[in-house]
Amino acid sequence: MVTGAARGIGAAIARRLAHDGMAVALLDLNEAGCVAGAEAIAADRGRAIGVPVDVSDADEVAQAVARVTAELGPPTVLVNNAGILRDNLLFKMSDDDWDAVMNVHLRGAFLMSRAVQEHMVEQRYGRIVSLSSSSALGNRGQANYSTAKAGLQGFTKTLAIELGRFGITANAIAPGFIETDMTAATAERVGMSFEDFKAAGAKSIPVGRVGQPEDVAHVASFLASEQAGFVSGQVIYVAGGPLS
Ligand code: NAP
Repeated sequence: MVTGAARGIGAAIARRLAHDGMAVALLDLNEAGCVAGAEAIAADRGRAIGVPVDVSDADEVAQAVARVTAELGPPTVLVNNAGILRDNLLFKMSDDDWDAVMNVHLRGAFLMSRAVQEHMVEQRYGRIVSLSSSSALGNRGQANYSTAKAGLQGFTKTLAIELGRFGITANAIAPGFIETDMTAATAERVGMSFEDFKAAGAKSIPVGRVGQPEDVAHVASFLASEQAGFVSGQVIYVAGGPLS
């Protein structure tokens, strides 16, 4: 189950896990997008379904997990990827900007993980991967987002401690600059063309380029694999060079 899978990083992770041989459920607010993504995977001889869900709504999450379990079998892998930005400097950040970001990233990951762990504990197997960010280390204009992404690191470590005995691992991926609609929207917000924004970003990245969704999907594939069973509670920065 990959949340926020209609586009960007989530879509790339869903494609990669399907390529790895998994049946994949693409969950997203955007029903048309996740259904189209699932159809594209199916056309490529994979097995996938698109499931509309707001990850911050407990009832919708319960229904989505029940549907996936009925159609594809009990979940073995959860990727908490759904995310939004509501950037602003602290003195201009509204209550809604704060709550919306906490609800999608933190409440969403909590509700999804709680719903799937029941099946994973029963199977004595599971892989939970959550998308943190290099912004967890602090980023101007992102008091809400950096707090949520740092929170996901603590959440991940706690799940690793609680669930390890049931054969379940929990890890976080913290990407740096990845070329998606999310970073394109940031470029627009700061009044730069996306090309200039990417070129400026690449200058401060040791490998000299911005990341692609597939760079993140590759790490998700590893963490979601059966062979990664001794890696748990870790945060892997996928940012083209050291951050912490
Ligand atoms: P994106 O292109 O904006 O895609 C995010 C997806 O999540 C969208 O399809 C969106 O649906 C969906 N979504 C939003 N709220 C949701 C909700 N409540 N329930 C279900 N789905 C929801 O973002 P991205 O760049 O691929 O980022 C994916 C993840 O990586 C996010 O958690 C992000 O914070 C993290 N990340 C990204 C970067 C980067 O540089 N791009 C860096 C570090 C971390 P709608 O289209 O309907 O809004």
